[in-house]
Amino acid sequence: AKNAGKNQYAMFTSALREDRLERTRLTIGLRRALAGGELVLNYQPVVDLASGDIRKVEALLRWNPTGSRPVPPDVFIPIAEESGLIVPIGTWVLEQACRDAGRWYERHGVSVTVNVSGRQLREPDFAETVLDILARHGLPEQALVLEITESMLLATTPAETARIIAALATLREHGVRVALDDFGTGYSSLSYLRTLPVDILKIDKSFLPPSGHADHHQMRAFTKAILELSASLGLNVIVEGVETPEQAALLQQMGCPQAQGYLFSPPVAALQVDGLLAVTPWQ
Ligand code: C2E
Ligand code: CA
Ligand code: CA
Ligand code: CA
Repeated sequence: AKNAGKNQYAMFTSALREDRLERTRLTIGLRRALAGGELVLNYQPVVDLASGDIRKVEALLRWNPTGSRPVPPDVFIPIAEESGLIVPIGTWVLEQACRDAGRWYERHGVSVTVNVSGRQLREPDFAETVLDILARHGLPEQALVLEITESMLLATTPAETARIIAALATLREHGVRVALDDFGTGYSSLSYLRTLPVDILKIDKSFLPPSGHADHHQMRAFTKAILELSASLGLNVIVEGVETPEQAALLQQMGCPQAQGYLFSPPVAALQVDGLLAVTPWQ
């Protein structure tokens, strides 16, 4: 038994070592990825449930390392955050998204939403960087939505929290909108809603009933409560992860304005967005 314990411990430490090695490998790869043009943005439409029109597109980062398989965002984003690489990568994402979004906003009134991590928001010049990028690409502030999560406030000091809130307030004064992503997945979503200056709530897909379930009672109650709360706070709502026509119908019936999910479109390349917009003209 003693030996078995020892073996387990050896396996455990070697797994940790491999994990660290893998992270180091990915960090080095990611540093090269930015310069080497291995990063691309895909965009997923956000639709108006009543009309089916595309209202926004969410920029989602993809990493396709030369000569190996794509690395999923859930793997490389945390590594980019830990290494600080998320700051230059995030700036690149904002630049690229604003470059692509110009024609979509001009021709179709479609806004672009960009995920930003807490690490980026804590940079002292974050608001200026964003406004500068918008100005350089000639994109109106109203065309940009920044997606933040409540988890980005978890490890911050009160001074950092205050700085983040100030940066968001500055951006909102200029017309940039802020969306609270993954709403409902944290432990204290409601208290963050009181603290953070936001315009839009993105309700997490875990609030949707699994496909094929007849009893939507609980989900209905939760979603209804969130929709009512949002309306009384003057917030816009997007429900994420809509995969079936039943889910979409239920949401529409409950008065949910906008939704996003595989039912409408998976994330696609920028060129494909042009195609989607061409067949679903704006108003
Ligand atoms: P997120 O911001 O919550 O993005 C939504 C995720 O759900 C995306 O995963 C999207 O592809 C996926 N999704 C869309 N529709 C459906 C659906 O109908 N069903 C299901 N099951 N999933 C759906 P993705 O692209 O793998 O991104 C994962 C996460 O990585 C994002 O979650 C976001 O937190 C992060 N991320 C992606 N791009 C960026 C970025 O540019 N910057 C930062 N900081 N984070 C990013
Ligand atoms: Ca998001
Ligand atoms: Ca989300
Ligand atoms: Ca997420």
